[in-house]
Amino acid sequence: MAAYQYETHDYDVVVVGAGGAGLRATLGMAEQGLRTACVTKVFPTRSHTVAAQGGIAASLSNMGPDHWQWHMYDTVKGSDWLGDTDAMEYLAREAPKAVYELEHYGVPFSRTEEGKIYQRPFGGHTTEFGEGPPVQRTCAAADRTGHAILHTLYGQSLKQKAEFYIEYFAIDLIMSEDGVCQGVVCWKLDDGTMHVFNAKMVVLATGGYGRAYFSATSAHTCTGDGNGMVARQGLPLQDMEFVQFHPTGIYGAGCLITEGARGEGGYLTNSEGERFMERYAPTYKDLASRDVVSRCMTMEIREGRGVGPDGDHIHLHLNHLPPEALHLRLPGISESARIFAGVDVTKEPIPVLPTVHYNMGGIPTNYWGEVLNPTADDPDRIVPGLMAVGEAGCASVHGANRLGSNSLIDLVVFGRAAAIKAGQVVTAGAPNPKPNAASIDFAFNRFDGLRHANGTVGTAELRLEMQKTMQADAAVFRTDKTLAEGVAKMTAVAGKMDDVKVTDRSLIWNSDLMETLELTNLMPNALATIVGAEARKESRGAHAHEDYPDRDDANWRKHTIARVDGTKVDLSYRRVVTEPLTKEAEGGIDMKKIAPKARVY
Ligand SMILES: Cc1cc2nc3c(=O)[nH]c(=O)nc-3n(C[C@H](O)[C@H](O)[C@H](O)COP(=O)(O)OP(=O)(O)OC[C@H]3O[C@@H](n4cnc5c(N)ncnc54)[C@H](O)[C@@H]3O)c2cc1C
Repeated sequence: MAAYQYETHDYDVVVVGAGGAGLRATLGMAEQGLRTACVTKVFPTRSHTVAAQGGIAASLSNMGPDHWQWHMYDTVKGSDWLGDTDAMEYLAREAPKAVYELEHYGVPFSRTEEGKIYQRPFGGHTTEFGEGPPVQRTCAAADRTGHAILHTLYGQSLKQKAEFYIEYFAIDLIMSEDGVCQGVVCWKLDDGTMHVFNAKMVVLATGGYGRAYFSATSAHTCTGDGNGMVARQGLPLQDMEFVQFHPTGIYGAGCLITEGARGEGGYLTNSEGERFMERYAPTYKDLASRDVVSRCMTMEIREGRGVGPDGDHIHLHLNHLPPEALHLRLPGISESARIFAGVDVTKEPIPVLPTVHYNMGGIPTNYWGEVLNPTADDPDRIVPGLMAVGEAGCASVHGANRLGSNSLIDLVVFGRAAAIKAGQVVTAGAPNPKPNAASIDFAFNRFDGLRHANGTVGTAELRLEMQKTMQADAAVFRTDKTLAEGVAKMTAVAGKMDDVKVTDRSLIWNSDLMETLELTNLMPNALATIVGAEARKESRGAHAHEDYPDRDDANWRKHTIARVDGTKVDLSYRRVVTEPLTKEAEGGIDMKKIAPKARVY
């Protein structure tokens, strides 16, 4: 008998997560008549997507010439040639369609004089395959684009009669003995009841794991739960060593100042008042891609040109811009700067520092969102019944580095693609097979073990130890020495999970237990990140390695596949997809245009 009584729910599809990716998938599935449940640990419109400020990339050409092929080129180059070509083509081609859909669903985009969707420039977005000037490609609803998208998608999902299970915490996947995903086991936070969701398709849309680090722009709920669930089933995570640091987190607080601030004309200075980005990236300057700007800022600080009493941060200037423009285009960040840095942006610079912002790695999928469990013979082997979309997934369109405004578009393009695919492979209303009882027991036993955990280390204490280790040893600057030390430290920290202590044994609103479950998810994410980074002997995108400063395509243009078992991480590699979706003769991209070359901005 299972350790807990539970209620059973039968659906065609269960989506775990109600951020932009989860809601777009939920909406698309429900629209096609699939019985769709969306399970979420926070209220849908509190998902981290709500914090997205700057905007969503699509080559609409509303503010000057643009082309999906230029968007694709920028994405390929941004990924430092680690992204999968088919997925990147799909993203760039489908982006305009996905944005117009959002517009028609009701997203209140900012407008141009002619009433078209307003678009702003963002780092790494260019014209003419990187030969032309920056392009205005990022569609924005002021600096609250994620907020606008999330509220619209939630309303539309309700209209399509998708069923929401709010403040339900997904504990583990249910897998059949032959590896088919059959559903998910959940804990209802407000009344302590247990729930088993059976479905023909489970979609993980659980977001990133920024909280594995000490300083992150992401919400406290970004704990990589889907990745943890996948790892516990022996399924792999991909390219976890690539963690994006956003150049402009507010110093001390970690809150984000959107790249849109530099898009609107903001610039960075060091302690000498120098616009140092002109030196590192003469063409695109402050709008070079994020990994480049973060690295340059770190270099300035390390070489003694940081600002502030400790010389440990950088200044971002908006004070030269007209106050009306700041009020119109960047009202949210003007407020954040006032609250979190005590700065009036019309008069003074904002103190900023590179801060963990995005996880390029995640659950490997194809461009339909189907989860992959690669083998040596079959790099594209599919896990039946399981999909992953959004920041939890790795399609992989961002490769080693994501361009700003390419995540929101990833959410809606691949959320939509997952719905299209589910419409093809799931038979609406067909009975669900009986779920594997052993798999359900595994989830409840794990839960019960943690609920009664009586070791010597508190959850918060252990979490802090993990966060400090990751911040110190797996951040912007990486060397053989720091990474090797980091792996040893993280292995020891993860080992302490067995000695964790939970003090509250109740089932209702037990935040101690919930945070412990989250910590069991953060640990495999952190381990895969640092072990993958230690193994990768090159510099690529966000993985800048002091001892191997160059990209090494001959040996390292491949995806890292990490399987985590307790404190052990087993690494293997998977080929990067280098074939496009469409041949050039049929309107596809000229492959010569996107052939690997040095990435300079
Ligand atoms: C401050 C900030 C600003 C950003 N600005 C931009 C921008 O301007 N443009 C851009 O393109 N990108 C931006 N990004 C990145 C982008 O917003 C995120 O990558 C994206 O929103 C992630 O969306 P998601 O749907 O994958 O996950 P999230 O929005 O993080 O949602 C995760 C969902 O999963 C649910 N969940 C998680 N675990 C469980 C569990 N165990 N059980 C049940 N439910 C669970 C949560 O309740 C939530 O609903 C920004 C990110 C941050 C942090």
